[in-house]
Amino acid sequence: MNGVKSNTATGTTGTASSSVRGRFAPSPTGLLHQGSLYTALGSWLSARAQGGQWLVRIEDIDQGRANPAFSGHILQTLEAFALHWDGPVVYQSQRLALYEAALNRLTIRGLVYPCSCSRRDLPAAHTPLAEPFYPGTCREGPQHPERACALRVRVPDRLLRVYDSEQGWHSENLAERGGDFTLRRRDGFYAYPLAVVVDDAEQGITEVVRGLDLWPQTVRQRWLQQALGFKVPHYSHLPLVVEPDGQKLSKSQRSIPVNPAQAPHHLAQALTALGLNPPHSLQQSSPHEMLQWALEHWALRPRLPASIPAWPTPP
Ligand code: GLU
Repeated sequence: MNGVKSNTATGTTGTASSSVRGRFAPSPTGLLHQGSLYTALGSWLSARAQGGQWLVRIEDIDQGRANPAFSGHILQTLEAFALHWDGPVVYQSQRLALYEAALNRLTIRGLVYPCSCSRRDLPAAHTPLAEPFYPGTCREGPQHPERACALRVRVPDRLLRVYDSEQGWHSENLAERGGDFTLRRRDGFYAYPLAVVVDDAEQGITEVVRGLDLWPQTVRQRWLQQALGFKVPHYSHLPLVVEPDGQKLSKSQRSIPVNPAQAPHHLAQALTALGLNPPHSLQQSSPHEMLQWALEHWALRPRLPASIPAWPTPP
């Protein structure tokens, strides 16, 4: 599928000496930018500092948006930054049978139903990026059975709680916030909340360190884990790296990819963003040595601010 397929733990990684298992799960919709480097580094340091394993999963479930060229670039960039992973890279596009099996288990429990609504049939969302609230239109049967249907899951009407080591406790009633959500889209693609929950469980992930933009999705995932009888990983949602206007850096938008030729600069900035204080002289070292330094100092870092400003790229 691309040039880099697997990368067994050596050197910096050492042999995993604990049951901790972290992961980095990029969607290949663009090149690796500052924000994704920072998330990758945060999850790598968290897992490795505990003597754990670190896996990479390419989230190419949405074949309309995923691009194999980006997957290859992301993996090569991680390697250039000495962010070595354990075992083979997993691709969501090759794991459809796992998602289908999980969907079947929920269907047997009577939790899944077909929904013929298009976005236009639903009440408008409060913000352009928010998912619209689903009022349960097709709960008793699809309103337009002639249309292709999505599959939705019935969410419970009660308060659910999820804990995050950066964000603390969060309570939410799924029935009031987004309503029944999609597990398989009308175009046949499995939806992110199902795929991520199945993959994290199947890969034995014990801790999820990722960007704060995914925190609002976490109650859904937590509930799906419970419905499927999966173990719940520890969560840690890192503040987002933002542009001067406060916008999240996004692979698919205008952010500039990190340049492996400037790895020490980017690593030093990303380590600072993660609350460490790398000495300037560290930038004379190799990425591998910089990561060793970071592992030694990881436990001492302070609490992070609400968001992290993007750092300038050297000319
Ligand atoms: N694939 C998601 C992204 O690139 C991350 C999903 C996750 O870490 O759970 O934003």
